Amino acid sequence: MLDALAEPPSATQRKAMHIEVLSLFPSYIEGPLHESILKRAIQNDLVRISNVDIRAFSTRKDSRVDDRSFGGGPGMVMMAEPVAAAIRSCRTPDSRVVYLTPQGQMLTPTLAKELATVSHLILLCGHYEGIDQRAIDADVDQEISIGDYVLTNGCLAALVLIDVVARFIPGVLGNEEAAAEDSFEKGLFDHAHYTQPRVFEGKEVPEVLLSGDHEKIARWRRTQALEHTLKRRPDLVAQEFLVSPQAVGEGISVRKLVEPSMYFDDVLRFYEHVLGILPEGDAQTASFSCGAFSLTFLRVDRPMASVASMFSVAMPTHQFRAAVAWCRKKAGRLVTAPMVEGDVFVAVVKDPDGRLVRIYSTND
Ligand code: SAM
Repeated sequence: MLDALAEPPSATQRKAMHIEVLSLFPSYIEGPLHESILKRAIQNDLVRISNVDIRAFSTRKDSRVDDRSFGGGPGMVMMAEPVAAAIRSCRTPDSRVVYLTPQGQMLTPTLAKELATVSHLILLCGHYEGIDQRAIDADVDQEISIGDYVLTNGCLAALVLIDVVARFIPGVLGNEEAAAEDSFEKGLFDHAHYTQPRVFEGKEVPEVLLSGDHEKIARWRRTQALEHTLKRRPDLVAQEFLVSPQAVGEGISVRKLVEPSMYFDDVLRFYEHVLGILPEGDAQTASFSCGAFSLTFLRVDRPMASVASMFSVAMPTHQFRAAVAWCRKKAGRLVTAPMVEGDVFVAVVKDPDGRLVRIYSTND
C-alpha cells in the first residue's frame, strides 16, 4: 500500500476528511495533489489523501488483477478478489465506498456537498472493461459518474471528484463567498468577469462595473447571469421552475424539491432575489421582464393558501424548441403540442405536481 502523504495522521489530521483512492495507477493521482488549492488543503490538514495499489492485493504469482470476461467478448475484467481485499483493507464503520463508473449517479454540486461531509471516502477506480460485478455488489456503497462519456480508467474521475468535493470542505477555498457565486449555485451560470486593463483590443469593461454603485452592479450581474444561462442552457433555468423557494434557501437538491404547491408570495420573493428586479402586475398576476425573456405567474386561491399554480415563460423563438423538448423529457407531459398563436409559438406542459406551464416564444 502506498501513502501519497507519508506522514502518519496527527491529532488535527484525524479530524480532516480522509480520501483513499484504490486504483491500478497510484502515480496517476499524485501530480495534482502537489499543486495549487489541493496542495494547500493537504498541507493545512483539511483533507488527507492516500493511494492504495490494488495490484498489491493480487493472489497471483505474476501480480495480475484482470482476466477474460466469462461469456466471451473483447476486453479484460478486474477480478473480484483483489478489489474486495483492497477495499476491506481500509474500510472502517465510518467509510463510504464509491465506485467511479459511467453507469453511476451523476456528480453534481449537491452530491459533492454531501460527500464533503463524509469522514472517510474510499474511491474505487476501475480499468479495462470494469470490475467483476460480485465485488461491486459486495463492497460498494455508491456508484458515481463524472459525465456521459467513457474514460480509459477511473483515476481521472476520482481526481475530478476529489477536486469538486474539496471545494466544499470548509477552509479549502480562500474565499467561501466566491464559491457561492459560482455556476450552478443558484441554478444559473456565474456572471461574466472582467479585470485590468479597462480597454482590451478596443473593448471596454461594461461601464456599470466601474460605477461603484453596488446595488446596480449586483443587479447587472444577476441579469447578465440569467440571460447568459437562458441563451446557453435554457434547461437549467427551466429546472428552477420546479424548485420550491424555501428549499433553495436550505440548499436541498433540486430533485427532492418538487413539492405539491408553490406559494405565490414565495415565488415572487424567490424571483425578486434571483433576478434583482421587482415584478409588474396586479393582485392576481406578476411578470418579471428580463431582456428578451419574461416570466409570468398567476395567483390561484385555494382553500388553504394562494399558490402560483400556473405561470408562463416567454423566450426567443430559437430557444423555444429546446425548452419544449426539455419540458417534455424532464418536467412532465405535454398538454398541448406547440402551436401558433398570433405570431408566436405556444405550448402547455404539466409539471410533475400538476402545475400548468405555458411556454411562449417571443417574436425575435
Ligand atoms: N465497460 C464500462 C462501461 O461501458 O460502463 C466502461 C469501463 S471504463 C473503460 C474503465 C473504468 O473507467 C471504469 O471501470 C470506471 O472506473 C472508469 N470510468 C470510465 N468512464 C467514467 C465516467 N464517466 N465516470 C466515472 N468513471 C469512469
